[in-house]
Amino acid sequence: MKTQQLKDGMLSIESRNIFTILKKWLYTEQDIVFRELISNATDAIEKLKQISSSDETTPETEGRIIVTLDTNEKKLVFSDNGIGMTEKEVDKYINQIAFSGATDFINSNNKAGKDSIIGHFGVGFYSAFMLTDHVSIETKSFKDTPAIRWDCKSNMSYMMKTCSKEEIGTDIIIHLDENSPYLKNPEMIHDIIKKYFIFSKTPVFFDGEGYNNVQVNTPYPIWKQPKETIDRETMNEFYKEYYKDSSDPLFWIQFQSIDLGVNGILFFRNTKNGTEELDGTIKVYSRGVYIGENIKSLVPKFVNLQSGIIECDNLPLVVSRSEIRQEDNRNDMMALVYECLSQEVTIAMNNMFVNERKLYEERWANLNAFVKYAILQDKIFASVMTKKVIFEDIYGKYHTIQEYNENIASEKHHDTIYYASDNVEQAHYIEIFKKCNLNALLFDHVIDQPFMRKYEVVKPNLKFIRIDSNISSLFEGYMKEGDKTRARLLKEKIEKALGDRLKDMNIKITNLEQESITTLIINDEKSRRMADMLEIYGYINPADTAAKKFQSDSTLLINMNNKIINHIMETDESTGTSIIISQLYDLALMSQQALKPEDIESFICRSESILENSIK
Ligand code: ADP
Repeated sequence: MKTQQLKDGMLSIESRNIFTILKKWLYTEQDIVFRELISNATDAIEKLKQISSSDETTPETEGRIIVTLDTNEKKLVFSDNGIGMTEKEVDKYINQIAFSGATDFINSNNKAGKDSIIGHFGVGFYSAFMLTDHVSIETKSFKDTPAIRWDCKSNMSYMMKTCSKEEIGTDIIIHLDENSPYLKNPEMIHDIIKKYFIFSKTPVFFDGEGYNNVQVNTPYPIWKQPKETIDRETMNEFYKEYYKDSSDPLFWIQFQSIDLGVNGILFFRNTKNGTEELDGTIKVYSRGVYIGENIKSLVPKFVNLQSGIIECDNLPLVVSRSEIRQEDNRNDMMALVYECLSQEVTIAMNNMFVNERKLYEERWANLNAFVKYAILQDKIFASVMTKKVIFEDIYGKYHTIQEYNENIASEKHHDTIYYASDNVEQAHYIEIFKKCNLNALLFDHVIDQPFMRKYEVVKPNLKFIRIDSNISSLFEGYMKEGDKTRARLLKEKIEKALGDRLKDMNIKITNLEQESITTLIINDEKSRRMADMLEIYGYINPADTAAKKFQSDSTLLINMNNKIINHIMETDESTGTSIIISQLYDLALMSQQALKPEDIESFICRSESILENSIK
């Protein structure tokens, strides 16, 4: 059959549908209305400023925006004294959706105001219909044309007429429904404006019940002021108020990159010496308007552990201005900001280590987890800071790994770092180390284990040995003439007394300089780490420390240069040496928290009978 050409044409869009889409989909949060309308007002003021700076006939006026909630008239009015609109402009920019006046203005004014004008997309104004079915505009252009009143209902029909407005500028009037929650809640309006415009350069006022034309924004907040003029008290107050935190920040870093159009501040939070979790809030503003917080593509993960404010004027924003465009060639911009933040924190930490070591140590308990996390997370930070991580030793002094190696480790063990991971669980070993004038570092934060593993990869010749593991080389002791035979006999006595309880425990008998040490259980670092892993993956119940201990390969060291051991060696078995041996073995296991529950009962009974005997 022959086909018949009927019609050519462009697809047409029913504007009512766009409206529904705009209302329902584009804006998910009603706050956006405030952001859009105040941003438009800010743009209008900025435009007038641009014009009056290049045209003498246009007088300069101090820009201001007033948001008024009139509960009697049920109106919410956004009023500015900016550029205003002529009839033609209302027709062009308001009656045609998605025709952005902002882009038009920039193009026709040799890019003037490119950096300070917020709008780009030509749809923000219509967000007003999220709050109401009826919006009016009263506007008077600086061009001395008649003022215009525009009324539109959400059925999309509009009406334009001249009106009697005298002052140059624009009022956007939202006729609220009597059930509108805003009518009863001026505080909510005040808080939304504050959230988005707290740092806006243009003064924004709110007038409503309980708010008598109060200025909502702080155009020159303290964090933007030059470092040397800032007084600590005022900054602490600002921080506590802004972040609703009860503690002062530890310190802060202010930063600025003129090239990137970025400036901001980072507050290092007081974590009460690491007892409080780190998780900060970084709020991002663009051209004075709040964009969002904790934006992953902009703020490195580790920086996000602290709290801060970043003002970033060149961000590529999406239509609703609430998010940043991801697929955009200006994404490079975001990568640069990301790097800039990472560098700023790295420089600040490095400077503190190099120039203020005492302060660095004083703050360490609060910084510990942050610095180590940052090293695990960020290459730039790691390249500078890995060597600057400090550890407290068992005497309360701080050292970097390198300092420990150079100043503390003995020549024989110069590549070995002894550490304690729990100063309660390993208290016995810490005491023994102290008795023997040895030193060890405290690796007692959960992040220390992954940090240590990373360090071992970077420096494979270093060995990290836990204070109760592989320390036999520190306790090799010495053997005198005839000791070999004595040791063999002692070993037999011990094996007889303990029987099956010894299981795979190795026995090492020697003389230690320190007479007060009786016995010591030494674990193998590798098998202990394996047991730790088994616990992490759930193969061992963490509460069952005995099971964990028995996973690792252990040695029972016995000091022949000790009175009790001597007594055992020199006394006849029949006089109860096996009780002493069992008691010593239990005590050694207890120092490791490795005494099995079923052995505790016999330990208590034996202890009691020893006490009874001592009374007799
Ligand atoms: P955008 O701000 O993204 O350009 P809008 O829909 O919010 O888009 O606004 C469309 C245009 O209407 C603006 O570009 C501007 O020319 C004009 N306009 C909106 N609000 C005002 C105002 N308060 N004063 C002057 N012009 C305005």
